[in-house]
Amino acid sequence: MTTTTTRDETRAAAADKGAAMLMHRCGVLAQCTEKQGEILRTFLSPAMDEVHRTMRGWMEAAGIAVAVDRAGNLRGVYPADSGGEARRLVIGSHLDTVPNAGAYDGVLGVLIGLAFVEASAERKDPFAIEVIGFSDEEGTRFGAPFLGSRAVVGELAGDLLECVDGNGVSVAAAITNHATQRPETIEAVLSDRCAAYLEFHIEQGPVLESRDLALGIVEGLAGQSRCKVEFRGHAGHAGTTPMKLRKDALAGAAEWMTRVEAIAMRFGNAVATVGRIDAEPGGVNVIPGNVRCSLDVRHAEDPVRAALVRAAFDEARGVAAKRGLQVGTAQYHERPAVRLDVDLVSLAERAAERAGYATIRMTSGAGHDAMVIAPHVPSAMVFLRNPGGISHHPEENVAERDVAAAIHMGLCFLDEFAGHLAQKETGKLV
Ligand SMILES: [Zn+2]
Repeated sequence: MTTTTTRDETRAAAADKGAAMLMHRCGVLAQCTEKQGEILRTFLSPAMDEVHRTMRGWMEAAGIAVAVDRAGNLRGVYPADSGGEARRLVIGSHLDTVPNAGAYDGVLGVLIGLAFVEASAERKDPFAIEVIGFSDEEGTRFGAPFLGSRAVVGELAGDLLECVDGNGVSVAAAITNHATQRPETIEAVLSDRCAAYLEFHIEQGPVLESRDLALGIVEGLAGQSRCKVEFRGHAGHAGTTPMKLRKDALAGAAEWMTRVEAIAMRFGNAVATVGRIDAEPGGVNVIPGNVRCSLDVRHAEDPVRAALVRAAFDEARGVAAKRGLQVGTAQYHERPAVRLDVDLVSLAERAAERAGYATIRMTSGAGHDAMVIAPHVPSAMVFLRNPGGISHHPEENVAERDVAAAIHMGLCFLDEFAGHLAQKETGKLV
């Protein structure tokens, strides 16, 4: 009992120290920007090189061997106690940002990997820790997200390489230029020794704060449907057309939107958003004759998401029939849900409990690098409370005590990971 208490106190103290350092470092990296007065870092930009130089200094001081791969991902490996070709636990997130970003989205998840290594200098782990700072998750430069993580799992190919930035430079050309100027770059591929991927990220939403919790364990990332719904009626004079003789497409769309809201509330944990409406002809004194609406639907279970989309389309037809309008519906983009590894999710939950933190299981409504990595490597993800749920904004924040909670929990995770690995290996042999 005494030993356990002492170890927990040691871990808690290391976590507090690590959290203070991490907050300071987020501030330092926030200075690396390609636009004066705001934080902006895009794929393979000079600002990203600056982040790499700074990170390299910190990582090498902690005994981590650092390299940058062809896709601009920062890669650092801290060896296993045994050295050599041990299994790896990958801890990562992204180093790029949206325009006018906050200081924690992505960066925090990379720095936390470094914090684990620093806090556990005395550790003797039978597995190596690889810290990855992905070069692109937000898709700011090319309009296509996850370029860094897609590269390491072999999915940066085909049409994706032909996407061009604002200067007409393609992804393929940007990568070639970057790598040519840096012959020391390594292959952009995950080692086949990777046993697990762990990502920490601010929640980017209000749930943990509303539940008064520091940490949430993500068990899956929601699938997404993007749809178009168009209502067609008759444009007409706003002053001379009696109410009963109108075919107002915008009034129909408005009624449908409130029904979409109600349907989403009936489907547990679903979210549905009409984020954009284009009403034509758009005159203040003209009855809207034609309205195009967007519809974004997300849920952790793909069949539920599909059912919600069908229900939303049925409602659109119902509203249109009642109001004498015509309606067109189409789903033009779909991304399936991703389940995270059941064993690692439980391990993360136990680790948080051991560190003294209650958690809830969550579904991420936003995409993250874990979504790309999870189909290839068993993955887990942990959310940190995000005050006000504000993200992708300069006021984005995280509390130092919550970062300490995440580091403490992570150190407990490392403790249990060796046992988990051994169990998996034994299982395979049987
Ligand atoms: Zn992010």
